[in-house]
Amino acid sequence: AKTRDLLVEKVEDLVRRYKKIDENFFEELEEILITADVGVNTVMELIDELRSEVRKQKIEDAMDLQPILSEKLVALLKNDDSMDAGLNIEDGRLNVILFVGVNGVGKTTTIGKMAHMFKQQGKKVLLAAGDTFRAAAIEQLEVWGDRVGVDVIKHQQGADPAAVIYDAVQAAKSRGVDILLCDTAGRLQNKVNLMEELSKVHRVLQRELPGAPHEVLLVLDATTGQNALSQAKTFGKSAGVTGIVLTKLDGTAKGGIVIAIRNELNIPVKYVGLGERMDDLQPFDPEQFVHALFA
Ligand code: GDP
Repeated sequence: AKTRDLLVEKVEDLVRRYKKIDENFFEELEEILITADVGVNTVMELIDELRSEVRKQKIEDAMDLQPILSEKLVALLKNDDSMDAGLNIEDGRLNVILFVGVNGVGKTTTIGKMAHMFKQQGKKVLLAAGDTFRAAAIEQLEVWGDRVGVDVIKHQQGADPAAVIYDAVQAAKSRGVDILLCDTAGRLQNKVNLMEELSKVHRVLQRELPGAPHEVLLVLDATTGQNALSQAKTFGKSAGVTGIVLTKLDGTAKGGIVIAIRNELNIPVKYVGLGERMDDLQPFDPEQFVHALFA
């Protein structure tokens, strides 16, 4: 709703004020889209396409451009249907999901929500406290474990995260767990060490369970806008990210970031966080998203 207010109301106001399309119109439209965090490259592409549509179809009235804009946005979000496959989860095997992302983005909360979601589906879930850097991270994961009724495998603060993950996989195998959700550290002060830590976790997983991790979900905070985009670039390259969970969409007018991530990184947004409670997690549906924007 917030993104809709920002984007659609401003576009509607623009269209009303201009009537006739000229250079200033495009400049203002560009600014509106950038303010909604659609992303500079994506906005440039969009504006170019709109310009050529205006020429081709000899559009003069700004009113006639609005449906073309929403059509283009839908096209951007749906540029690759294979990206909408949902999570790579299969019945009858142990599925491992690794969560990566910077501290504070909502990683622990998302793990808690997802544990709840899978439990609701009747799956057996286990959590691994792989962020051994912060004692608070381990405790917080335990709080979520208690809340949703799921066990947590943990070591002490400062322990080797790969050892925690190793233990968690063994426990998951012997307990017949369906879904193992693994937390990881998110300190960015020492990026090189963090990436090495993550690749060690990867190696242990691959060795202990062929095919694992089945998903690597990067958690991003929508309220940080373009910062989220740059985090996605950092993690996307080195952590083998397969999907994004975009949190705190309830608290921002900058939902345009969904479009930027999708278009500039080609990583699917798989889930969105819409609040702090355990039910506030939803699969991301591009069509529904644009529909909500222009309904
Ligand atoms: P972590 O450091 O990445 O594990 O982040 P946390 O899970 O501790 O979350 C940081 C803060 O963001 C907490 O206060 C959460 O309640 C809050 N949070 C997480 N997800 C959402 C969301 O989707 N919406 C809102 N409004 N708050 C969220």
